[in-house]
Amino acid sequence: MMRQQRTLDRPATVQGFGFLTGADITLRFLPAAEDHGIAFQRTDLAGSEPIPARLDYVVPRQRRTAITRNGATVEMVEHVMAALAGLQIDNCLVQLDGPEPPGGDGSSLHCITELLDAGIVEQSAPRDILVVQGEHRVTGERDGSEITAQAVPRRTLVITYELDYGPRSPIRPQLLTFEFSPELFVTNLAFARTFVLEAEAQALKAQGYGTRVTAQDLLIFGSQGVIGNELRAVDECVRHKILDCVGDFALLGCDIHGHFRAYRSGHALNHAICRQVAAHAIQDESQRRVA
Ligand SMILES: [Zn+2]
Repeated sequence: MMRQQRTLDRPATVQGFGFLTGADITLRFLPAAEDHGIAFQRTDLAGSEPIPARLDYVVPRQRRTAITRNGATVEMVEHVMAALAGLQIDNCLVQLDGPEPPGGDGSSLHCITELLDAGIVEQSAPRDILVVQGEHRVTGERDGSEITAQAVPRRTLVITYELDYGPRSPIRPQLLTFEFSPELFVTNLAFARTFVLEAEAQALKAQGYGTRVTAQDLLIFGSQGVIGNELRAVDECVRHKILDCVGDFALLGCDIHGHFRAYRSGHALNHAICRQVAAHAIQDESQRRVA
């Protein structure tokens, strides 16, 4: 369905510390003109230009999405991207005074709250849409992970995610299909937090990452389940994985209509399927050409 581009009515601010580096960060969402898209700008680096939040600027990383341009990098953009895409905010300059957004509670809720408070306004230009054509598939190298995309009869974005880490994992298998709308994003996905296994958290800390993160800041799973925290939904993990997909798919810079089916997919596969789909997609006949 055709819609107009949207931006913020007023600036919004989020403060906190970055999960990766532990740095104190102030992030500002600023309204932007039609066709600006989403861009991140490091205000702590003198003269650094905005980095478009597009696939072309993505750099390979483990378990997160990072973008870079001319030596300026922003790590872990995915939950901010999910908040903006989830609310269909298409044009926004995101300024931050450090290397990564504030982690909040590991979900997108801390951004959603401030963005809704700032208000969203429609602009006059239509939003570009990519329509998935045919069938596409990318697979992970080792773990059997996979993501496919195919056309949907109804013009909408549908994401089915299956999470299964095996019988010995403290995270039980979960399967969920989500048909995108901003309303359902806010109520069903935005609250879902990042999760890690205790062993992974310890390995990251040994490398000097995430040293400020506690079991209260996100979900850490030990052998007996969540440590020092309570799940917000029994299937919070799969909801978070779909939230990550929404954020990663937004790197296309346009809406996308199709059915994605993911099995244990992470950020790298999410980027790969987007690249493949973009190479084969057609523009919606009601829309302008996608650049
Ligand atoms: Zn995530």
